[in-house]
Amino acid sequence: MNDSHCHFQNCVESLHTTLARGGKEKYIVLGTNYHDWTSVAALAREYPNRVIPGFGIHPWFVNLVIAGEKFYNSKENEAEKVSDHSLDHKMIPPTWLNTLHEYLDEFPTAVVGEFGLDKLAIDKETKQKYNFEKQVELFKTMYSTAITRKRAMSIHCVKAHQQIFDLLQEFDSKALSKEAPFIEPYSQTVKGLALHSYSGSKEVLARILKLPTLKDKVYVGLSAFVNLRSLKKTQLVLPTIPGDKLLLESDLNDSEEAIESMQAILSYVSEVLDIPQNQVVELANENLEKFLSF
Ligand SMILES: [Zn+2]
Repeated sequence: MNDSHCHFQNCVESLHTTLARGGKEKYIVLGTNYHDWTSVAALAREYPNRVIPGFGIHPWFVNLVIAGEKFYNSKENEAEKVSDHSLDHKMIPPTWLNTLHEYLDEFPTAVVGEFGLDKLAIDKETKQKYNFEKQVELFKTMYSTAITRKRAMSIHCVKAHQQIFDLLQEFDSKALSKEAPFIEPYSQTVKGLALHSYSGSKEVLARILKLPTLKDKVYVGLSAFVNLRSLKKTQLVLPTIPGDKLLLESDLNDSEEAIESMQAILSYVSEVLDIPQNQVVELANENLEKFLSF
């Protein structure tokens, strides 16, 4: 079964073990913080038929972007302005967008992501929630990059579904009117948009699925890791996800643990929807191909 959202770059040894057993499953391996993009790219080069890379900055890492910008702006002249490797490895250099484009050049099927909005998580260092304004700014940058580079995107959202809806609605009406305040050129529409481990309400999902330029491109990912922890909500949402929109994912770091996790979400979906497991797998695989347009 293909995995539409995972982070196997964080457990490379495990992935070698899994892939050494053969098989045909594909894994969308999503980078989250710039520093892990090199391992994502290395996996995609090593296993071109199995690993589809994704490059993004997760909302949990926005403070590293802010730190990188601060450091860069504190330097007065051009000579002092630093190159990537002289930045503290914990910061994300302001040149991250150029690097993202380089990876998108190298990998024609690469996804933009993971990125998104998170109103719940707390930064362990500052003991505060992640800067929301910066999250929105990064969201817009990555969304417009995905559109202009004609790539699918994988979106994280926790307790910010109304904000995601508002942004998507704004982009949708701009796409309809061909207005281009921040996206240039804006004639193309979204390739594919996965709301990964969707934890919002069925009402917000229904509204997203009605946006004229987006409705055919939006997919909804479910994982055991996130969605089976809030069964009540998942039970309400699952029957409202159109069959041709459903994706399955592990959202895990360890590909060996992901085997069991994928089976758990598959069994759950099959049981709730009363569709045989092999048909759910077929459906989810077909949807993933459409999402990526391979
Ligand atoms: Zn993730």
